[in-house]
Amino acid sequence: MSTPATIASNPRVGFVSLGCPKALVDSERILTQLKVEGYDIVQTYDDADVVVVNTCGFIDSAVAESLDAIGEAMAENGKVIVTGCLGKREDVIRQAHPGVLSISGPQDYASVMGAVHSALPPKHDPFIDLVPRRAMDDDIGVKLTPHHYAYLKISEGCNHRCSFCIIPSMRGDLVSRPVDDVLREAERLVRGGVRELLVISQDTSAYGVDVRYAEREWRGRAYQTRMKALCEGLSELGVWTRLHYVYPYPHVDDIIPLMAERNAEGTPKLLPYLDIPFQHASPRVLKLMKRPGAVDKTLERIQRWRAICPDITIRSTFIVGFPGETEAEFEELLDFLDEAQLDRVGAFAYSPVEGARANDLPDPVDEDVKQERLARFMQRQADISTAKLEAKVGSVQRCIVDAIDGELAIARSMADAPEIDGLVQVQDGRDAGLQPGEFVDVRIMGSDEHDLYGEVDYNA
Ligand code: SF4
Repeated sequence: MSTPATIASNPRVGFVSLGCPKALVDSERILTQLKVEGYDIVQTYDDADVVVVNTCGFIDSAVAESLDAIGEAMAENGKVIVTGCLGKREDVIRQAHPGVLSISGPQDYASVMGAVHSALPPKHDPFIDLVPRRAMDDDIGVKLTPHHYAYLKISEGCNHRCSFCIIPSMRGDLVSRPVDDVLREAERLVRGGVRELLVISQDTSAYGVDVRYAEREWRGRAYQTRMKALCEGLSELGVWTRLHYVYPYPHVDDIIPLMAERNAEGTPKLLPYLDIPFQHASPRVLKLMKRPGAVDKTLERIQRWRAICPDITIRSTFIVGFPGETEAEFEELLDFLDEAQLDRVGAFAYSPVEGARANDLPDPVDEDVKQERLARFMQRQADISTAKLEAKVGSVQRCIVDAIDGELAIARSMADAPEIDGLVQVQDGRDAGLQPGEFVDVRIMGSDEHDLYGEVDYNA
């Protein structure tokens, strides 16, 4: 559970937030609304009058984790409101936990608030009731992430139909937020102390397709509702901007020059970091996945990106053991890793998700084979990642401090997204008086497979 308890006399809500950063943004919105209405958010089941569980329903293990979390809340508290992705599968939840008070899907803030109101009416407070809602909200709302970075959700849903994925059936087709709305939210976050913006969506490069790239005005200038224009607007804010979940469309090439440009303070206009899930490298498997399959072109593009922006970090994810994947196709994937020399890689053994079309494909791969391929894949990439990090020893990296831990400052370089990538341990961080959210130049003295180690560089 999250955020501390306050005055005990207000109605009290416990909150459990599961799932991806997109679900985290939903949680933040609900928590903000609860606070605006005078609810206290408490940390234990015992202190809570009612518990909200924001679930994830993407893969089977996430469904199991969500059902366990609901079960625990039912056993420990008994008054439970369920929301989030798994809420789209009400039958599954009702079968496991028939006593939950209410079930709603992702972004259905109104249903969650309605359920909270019926289970636990807000306390009538003449002061709160007279103050306009917006004025009660602090400038940035409730954030579950540390104060210095924030997720910025630019759209919902997805127009693709990757055969292993059920997100479009849960979240629907792409719906983009108007660009001025996003830029204003980013502006508020930066005013509130945020130093790193993490742009998220299901498909960041499709941003604006649904609204035909509608033009809007922000700070007296016209911006299209389009990925590149959004990045240009965000670059005006002078903080780090990191893009996640970028589908490999050709127009991704257009934003690479922004990563090589610096603003007046020397900050990259866009962090040289691209989270671009390739999923596989065999054209036939990619076709079965209903993903773009021109792998030669992908390799050429990666080379081009590196020519324009040599310090670009490329993160990707892959699925091994997809139905029908042969040993030769898996070897193609390993060859791709060798050639592409990606910086950060995540991989999953294919896991059938209920409702995904890929489940109907012939020749499923045996579980043992899947696990054996996953281990080989991870070993191959571990060697690449280790060598890539080793090459940074002796360099100076601009980092952002996340926390102070004893003598150390725990920081991240531009190559490290929070929670998914590595860290930079700054050995003299406490002596240097570093604070979370501060930027610092770090001379790198050592490395391992995931992390870097260094000391503050006072010369940079
Ligand atoms: S692009 Fe992403 S969200 Fe959209 S269908 Fe494919 S995997 Fe799912």
